[in-house]
Amino acid sequence: MNNDQLAFGIDIGGTNTKIGLFDYSGKILHFRTLPTPSHSDPVPFIKQLAQESEHILSSELGMKLGDRRIIGVGAGAPMANYFTGNVDHAPNLGWRNVPLKKLFEENFRSRAVIENDANLAAVGEKRWGAGKNLSDFILITLGTGVGAGLILDGRLYRGHNALGAEGGHVLIPHEKKRLCSCGGINHLESYLSARGIKQTIFELTGEEWTIEKLGSEFNNRDLRASTIINTIVDELVSGLTSMAVLFGPQAFIIGGGVSKLGESFNAVIKKRLDEMVHFSLRGKVQIISATLSAEKGAIYGGAAHIFDEVLR
Ligand SMILES: [Zn+2]
Repeated sequence: MNNDQLAFGIDIGGTNTKIGLFDYSGKILHFRTLPTPSHSDPVPFIKQLAQESEHILSSELGMKLGDRRIIGVGAGAPMANYFTGNVDHAPNLGWRNVPLKKLFEENFRSRAVIENDANLAAVGEKRWGAGKNLSDFILITLGTGVGAGLILDGRLYRGHNALGAEGGHVLIPHEKKRLCSCGGINHLESYLSARGIKQTIFELTGEEWTIEKLGSEFNNRDLRASTIINTIVDELVSGLTSMAVLFGPQAFIIGGGVSKLGESFNAVIKKRLDEMVHFSLRGKVQIISATLSAEKGAIYGGAAHIFDEVLR
């Protein structure tokens, strides 16, 4: 492969959009983040992303969009559909019927692929991260929302028309009734999103804690922190056991902001999973932290995805 080839990885999030320029080895050459305008026309926004990207190229490398060394853009956005190239409806962004792939191709004058962000993060981990030597794993992103990316037989699995792999919306048994961002009740995301975890902390302590505080108190063996961790791990593992028995993964890779709770959190998940999962899988499913950065996982995946798409 040509080592001078470059790709953009872009992640359009509810609050911020990240742009990374990568080389073929997965090295991030330049990184920029800018606010995502809420509930506005995506057309000028994609144009703005292209201008920012061109600025990176011209100021840092003396190149322009359309240069033959730029092989394309891999972009993540909520509800982005790889097969149709569209975002039919993304409530967080206020987008409806957006031909996102086409907008990227026109503005960047190159090939483009679009995916949801958790799928991209899984592709990144497979190519350059914790999933490099695994053929079957499920990446779970615990952040503003809860996402899942399935790598089965070494390839990203999306389900028919890219409507599957929405692991954040598996139903979990619970004595409470908590609304999910999608309008459903008692989905994994109802409890494991950043907001869900904060609500659980408040219910258990009457206090408002950050995820960082939860992590540090847990590592200090604080009893209340332990209770909180055990509660959210029970909820998480309820979802994971269903996914495990369906797909038989070698590992769950935990990414997103909550993954900063780290190895001690993973150990609690692993112990509980082995208690709850079907006996055939006991001791056989690893719990690993994502190794690409929590904030940049999806842009790594975007670049990996477009390299695969164009150069395979
Ligand atoms: Zn849901």
